[in-house]
Amino acid sequence: MAQTQDAVAVPARLGIRVEGVVQGVGFRPFVHGLARSLDLTGRVVNDAAGVSIEVQGAPDRLARFLERLPLEAPPAAVVETVSVDTLPLADDAAFVIGPSIVSAGHTALVTPDIATCEACRREVLDPTARRYRYPFTSCSACGPRFTIARDVPYDRAATTMAAFAMCGDCAREYADPADRRFHAEPIACPACGPRLRLHDADGRTLDGDPLARAAAAIRAGRIVAVKGLGGYHLAVAAQDEAAVARLRSRKHREEKPFAVMAAGLDSARTLVEVDATAAELLTGVERPIVLLRHRPGAGLAASVAPGNAWLGVMLPYTPLHHLLLHEVGAPIVLTSGNRSDEPIAYRDAEAGERLRDIADLWLTHDRSIHIRTDDSVVRVVAAAPQLVRRARGYAPRPITLPWVLPRAVLACGAELKSTVCLARGRHAFLSHHLGDLEHYETFAAFTQAIEHLGRLFDVTPEVIAHDLHPEYLSTKWARERGERLVGVQHHHAHVAACLADNGETGPVIGVALDGLGYGTDGTLWGGEFLVADLAAFTRVGHLATVPMPGGSAAIREPWRMAAAYLHRAFEGGEIALGVHARHVGVWRAVVELGGAHAPLTSSAGRLFDAVAAILDVRDRVSYEGQAAIELEQLAGDLPATPYPIEIRLVGDGFELDGAGLIRAVAADVIAGTGRALIAARFHESLAEAIVGGCRAARERSGLDAVALSGGVFQNARLLARAIERLDGEGFRVLRHRRVPPNDGGVSLGQAVVAARVA
Ligand code: ZN
Ligand code: ZN
Ligand code: FE
Repeated sequence: MAQTQDAVAVPARLGIRVEGVVQGVGFRPFVHGLARSLDLTGRVVNDAAGVSIEVQGAPDRLARFLERLPLEAPPAAVVETVSVDTLPLADDAAFVIGPSIVSAGHTALVTPDIATCEACRREVLDPTARRYRYPFTSCSACGPRFTIARDVPYDRAATTMAAFAMCGDCAREYADPADRRFHAEPIACPACGPRLRLHDADGRTLDGDPLARAAAAIRAGRIVAVKGLGGYHLAVAAQDEAAVARLRSRKHREEKPFAVMAAGLDSARTLVEVDATAAELLTGVERPIVLLRHRPGAGLAASVAPGNAWLGVMLPYTPLHHLLLHEVGAPIVLTSGNRSDEPIAYRDAEAGERLRDIADLWLTHDRSIHIRTDDSVVRVVAAAPQLVRRARGYAPRPITLPWVLPRAVLACGAELKSTVCLARGRHAFLSHHLGDLEHYETFAAFTQAIEHLGRLFDVTPEVIAHDLHPEYLSTKWARERGERLVGVQHHHAHVAACLADNGETGPVIGVALDGLGYGTDGTLWGGEFLVADLAAFTRVGHLATVPMPGGSAAIREPWRMAAAYLHRAFEGGEIALGVHARHVGVWRAVVELGGAHAPLTSSAGRLFDAVAAILDVRDRVSYEGQAAIELEQLAGDLPATPYPIEIRLVGDGFELDGAGLIRAVAADVIAGTGRALIAARFHESLAEAIVGGCRAARERSGLDAVALSGGVFQNARLLARAIERLDGEGFRVLRHRRVPPNDGGVSLGQAVVAARVA
């Protein structure tokens, strides 16, 4: 607040540039309010690179302005840089919001969708407010952005809100700089905005209040398809076992856990263990699904997350979700609207069609979704958030790099958990999670994302980066283009992604552990120690290769990897262990006749599979990574000592002896050691193997920075232990922060490598 002693000070005028995510997040109304509260004059405008402010007044009030500017910025804003100049005094009457400066080819960046802010949440629950129970309430600090943006410049006409003409009241709020809806492009109210509709499988509209009827249906155990921000979800009462089981069987989803939406933090705390980091994630503007430890006796149906110690929980992120949760009065399962692992339905006609045999009712509305986005998924690992799936709420926020890319790049990513990345200057625009490219619709989303992001962010690629795997659809697509191509090895891309994520360029010891990636020697890699920078890499070590009997069949059937590893470990004289005994009929054939159909792999993910099968965790999986996830859960927090793991020097590199590790596991099984303890010992062993490999790589390279990447590092126990042990050995550890360690980050790595080497 203004204080009287300022009055005598000689006024000054500052020019302030703010860069980062500062457009479309309510930044100008915030600056306007802050300046006015300090009795300063001047102006704020959006320009090509951010927000430009001129502010004039007494020096100590200006100092307070500068201090509060980054601290009190709207929650969805990301202030990256603030630069300040002194300007000559000017003659302003007040502080105003000026017209945007639009330079050629450059306009306000489209931001991610922003969860409903507290003011809007209160408003929709306030019976005296104009927007009471209005599910499409938003303001300049919250609401849909990326999912409704059709084109640039980002204004209402270029969004799917163009179909709705503002009423007089909304138009006044939109035009008033003092209103928190000033220039809120998706502004709407019950008089002028989108409306809800409830219909049945035949498209017949049901009478009455759609929201109240949908909530009643959910309470009564029905399955309701709900149109959200990025697509349709399926909602069902989370405490109703019959309803959840019905959803599971209709969706053909055998075991993969469902996410649950709780009304608020207090409700979430009754379901899962919520620490401070988790609470921040749950209530943040991105509102991801947060994977947290299930509380026993939480009252949820057993079918929500069968046999799973972890539960994905999220809080409402649109007024529709707030209102629905409020009226249902209990947590709901809110899972993507699709069958099995197809892409999520997002157009009304396809939702009616594709969810016909799953949903009982459809709670829909007339605002269309332009870009399909899934919910994001985050886990807290070693005291920090780690993205598992980066989509709604995060995309298309750029990954800002502390260096300037020499050329604009399009990176096409991998195949599963596909993303693309367009990068220019200091910004890498990583797309939302697209899914498995083998689905026709996902592939369509892949080409759409390339075109859309290129247009929204004005990126004209000079180079196209792709994986080396010739069968990836992303590789084939890239190779059909005429432009300059750069093939980037999969694990080099993983390590580069981790470097970019941390704003570093290397060189570094890269540890890339994942399911599979195409190597440069014709084998399938996935347990790799690289010495790498953005331009190049050397493979200094890896897990010793084993055959993968039946090729990709081994991914779905972990017992095949157990067979291969036991065979290797005991050189054909293997002993019958649980899984082995069950599959003894096909065992020999698989191992011996595998031959050409048993590509060699050094994958760490496949080693997890082998151990999971040997411990009878499972011999078949119904979703990717399931065996490893369950093995991690089996190990829990049980303290354990590692098995010794041999590091052999081979040629000018080293090999980690996975078969020796399997011999130790088998000996423990025979000795009757508990399965959980064996699983725990396996995790400890792998952490030790990482440390051992890094020591060998350090001796050779003199480097002490280690980048950990690849899908295996989604394993919290392994990552936490590896970080702790590497720290203890004097390594400096880089882990993922802004992008997932899995293949969802590969396109970012490809982009920074291709920009450097092309
Ligand atoms: Zn709001
Ligand atoms: Zn209105
Ligand atoms: Fe990978």
